Amino acid sequence: MKCPFCGHEDTQVKDSRPYDDGAGIRRRRHCTNCDERFNTLERVQLRELTVIKRDGTKRPFDRDKIMRSLTIALRKRPVESDRIEQAVAAIVKKLELKVEPEIASEAIGQEVMNTLQSLDPVGYIRYASVYRDFREAGDFEEFMRGLQQQKS
Ligand SMILES: [Zn+2]
Repeated sequence: MKCPFCGHEDTQVKDSRPYDDGAGIRRRRHCTNCDERFNTLERVQLRELTVIKRDGTKRPFDRDKIMRSLTIALRKRPVESDRIEQAVAAIVKKLELKVEPEIASEAIGQEVMNTLQSLDPVGYIRYASVYRDFREAGDFEEFMRGLQQQKS
């Protein structure tokens, strides 16, 4: 399993334990290169999902990608890894229960944004700044104004 932080190939499993009443197995991993810690989850899949990218191409849904997005957005933030896992599980379940097995990548990005918004404001801004691909400083300011309006 590749390290999501530095891309190093060699990560060590620290421990494995059942997750969500035995519906999955969680492994704690440690990167020998950058010393970061992260979790991976092996679980039952409710159904196969396909992601439709912006350019119209399709690819299989990748749960790990959502985990990586959240882990990176919340790096060094005061959010417990358990809460991150629960959030990923909730997002995936929501997607798997959708009527259509094909999901636009924007819809997934939006779910991740919604989740981060309730988990951690800094993580939310980090993710949104990448996801929305702010090209101009003005775009970002407008986004921040929108955030403040939502709060008040
Ligand atoms: Zn690493």
